[in-house]
Amino acid sequence: MSFKDLHLNPKILKAIAELNYNKPTPIQQKTIPFVLEGFDVIGTAQTGTGKTAAFALPILDRLSQIPDAKKGAKKIKALIVSPTRELAIQIEENFKQFSHYTNLRTTAIYGGASMQPQIEILKKGVDILVATPGRLLDLHKRDLIVLDYVQTLVLDEADMMLDMGFINDVKKIESLCPCQKQTLLFSATLPTKIKILANELLTTPKNVSVSAISSAAKTVSQELYMVGKPKKIELCLHLLRNYISGNIIIFRRTKFGVNKLEKTLQKHNYKVDSIHGDKTQSARTKALNKFKNKEVNILIATDVAARGIDIPKLDIVLNFDLPNIPETYVHRIGRTGRAGAKGRALSFCSVDEKSYLKDIQELIEKKIAVIDEHPYPLDPKAKPEIHKKKGSKYKKGRKSEASKKKKKRWY
Ligand code: AMP
Repeated sequence: MSFKDLHLNPKILKAIAELNYNKPTPIQQKTIPFVLEGFDVIGTAQTGTGKTAAFALPILDRLSQIPDAKKGAKKIKALIVSPTRELAIQIEENFKQFSHYTNLRTTAIYGGASMQPQIEILKKGVDILVATPGRLLDLHKRDLIVLDYVQTLVLDEADMMLDMGFINDVKKIESLCPCQKQTLLFSATLPTKIKILANELLTTPKNVSVSAISSAAKTVSQELYMVGKPKKIELCLHLLRNYISGNIIIFRRTKFGVNKLEKTLQKHNYKVDSIHGDKTQSARTKALNKFKNKEVNILIATDVAARGIDIPKLDIVLNFDLPNIPETYVHRIGRTGRAGAKGRALSFCSVDEKSYLKDIQELIEKKIAVIDEHPYPLDPKAKPEIHKKKGSKYKKGRKSEASKKKKKRWY
């Protein structure tokens, strides 16, 4: 199948040809016809499969057929909701590239950035709005956004939105759009809670999927290093010195961990930058651009900050910490081995993380190959750290006043 077989607007075909999209990817082949026909869709696809174009191209095709003079011109007709700012920016970029030869306007609004420039663009009128849930609801409450003309609503990375606690925001946003609309829901994994949400929000949807749910990309070789927690940094330096090179993303579970590792690697003269939830939007965008432009070859990130970001030609994903949510492992390693290219995913596992490893291996239905030959092997007798001592004031069920008042984000 070629893009021409999908009968897309020649202006869109011209733009994607210039981006060297020669052939639709499997998710695009399956999704585009359904979206063009007006069906609701549940799309299960990992990052890197081309899912952005799978919904963007048919949306643009339909919108480009509406004459400018018609009612609704420069009103929001497609709304894409994304869990993170980085992903929102990227989707906006993609829409702008694909619609280059049309008159359609796209903008993105997201938290962590000044509201005023976003408001100015909204006032001029846009056809396609990409938004994170909080900023969208905020601007809607101030009467700066009209959703009455929305024809297509896209919920991207739906599983992530639920993990981040956006479920009520997502439902609210859906209810602010007209009843008669097309809804597209994309998710890397399809746990029960997503199925329930889809059932609630979508009408007789078509299911499209490009790989077995929760399966890891086949082109990624996976390696496991059992290592004591205090020795992880030495192992990381050892691997960087001797065995791994190219573009590397290192994942840590917490922003504190990200900062600590960044400082250590900088001390050892590695070209490194980082992204996590405590960094300003401009710092995050700058770090990402430095990585894309190869000014730095190592990016350290938490999962939330890195989710959905498209970094082409990633050679290695290093899981410095194993994620406690097994699906996150699949998301992380899906960043390498893209579009048929070979990738490598290395994971460190300390004794405390063995239970995470068990969950991950159950999910991907295979054992990850253990690399024994390294200088910092885990002591086979090592026991997990005991965090809660009997009689301690930090006993289960007893929260400090501070933690009751404010649950601090750790990602
Ligand atoms: P996505 O999964 O939407 O983040 O896309 C992953 C990467 O694949 C991006 O760099 C896209 O520009 C690229 N891509 C998407 N569709 C195609 C296609 N049909 N041909 C070549 N590259 C594509």
